[in-house]
Amino acid sequence: MIREQEIVAGRGRAEGAEGSPQVNAESAIASQPAAPHPRRDIIIAIDPGHGGEDPGAIGPGGTREKDVVMEISRRLQRLVDDAEGFRAVMIRDGDYYIGLRQRTRIAREQKADFFVSIHADAFNSPRPSGSSVYALSQRGATSETAQWLAASENQADLIGGVDGNLSLNDKDEVLRGVLLDLTMTATLNDSLAIGGQVLDQLGRVNRLHRSRVEQAGFMVLKSPDIPSLLIETGFISNPDEERRLRDAGHQQKLAESIFAGLAEHFRRNPPPASLLAWQRDNRRSPSGNEYRIQPGDTLSQIAARHGVPVGQLKQANELNGDVIRVGQVLRIPRS
Ligand SMILES: [Zn+2]
Repeated sequence: MIREQEIVAGRGRAEGAEGSPQVNAESAIASQPAAPHPRRDIIIAIDPGHGGEDPGAIGPGGTREKDVVMEISRRLQRLVDDAEGFRAVMIRDGDYYIGLRQRTRIAREQKADFFVSIHADAFNSPRPSGSSVYALSQRGATSETAQWLAASENQADLIGGVDGNLSLNDKDEVLRGVLLDLTMTATLNDSLAIGGQVLDQLGRVNRLHRSRVEQAGFMVLKSPDIPSLLIETGFISNPDEERRLRDAGHQQKLAESIFAGLAEHFRRNPPPASLLAWQRDNRRSPSGNEYRIQPGDTLSQIAARHGVPVGQLKQANELNGDVIRVGQVLRIPRS
């Protein structure tokens, strides 16, 4: 169930931006020696909806949404933690309420790569049933971009994912807007891609209430740089589905479907600093137009050695201010 407040966006306070020294990031990064590969885990933030004084929807048999979504979330947590290269972070880890903004804030503090909010749907008739998957609407993303730009506390924050080191505070206002817009669009595209995979998996274990990823302006989906989904696992207002939502076997199948969908996406598109990216790059030998970064390499040295401008090398590998890492495989463009 989604309450009105989950749809209404909070108001950002417009405050003046603080000035900061201009940094020539381009040349600084090009001469930086390759960093050791962090081989970090991909962080999955799991948000069981509602909690505490907010029970969420209540089924005809008295089942509370906050309880079943916690059980499904714990099963998902176990699956994530048992998979190599993944780690789960629980946004709510007990029966208490957390504000919606706070939920996205925790995900950011934990440097989450993905955020998933788990809910159960309700309707005022017992008939509807099935699962739905939601991503943020374009309108929600656009208004959130404006709000982020208005709130000065966000301007020093990172964009470009937790692996990026591109910060907004050394950019002028127009450029900040463009960068944040691009980031939100990329994040939304990732959310929709992951949502499609999750929906595909859910469709194998449950009826789908909506066969496409739905889009809405939900508050918990508004992180500008963390792909986010809200999953309505089923209708708690439908007596048959209420019974199944309480069933351990069905809960496990739902959790497995959600994990299978997101794992599929991240195995294909691992963040550059992750163990999964390192494994992908090191399981194969680089081909003729590729180069594997060695200890001590700098981007400018690699560029010079291959007779390619640094800018072109960065562009070909989408190194948007990202540091280079030992073991990472770079594509060498033809100059
Ligand atoms: Zn709910």
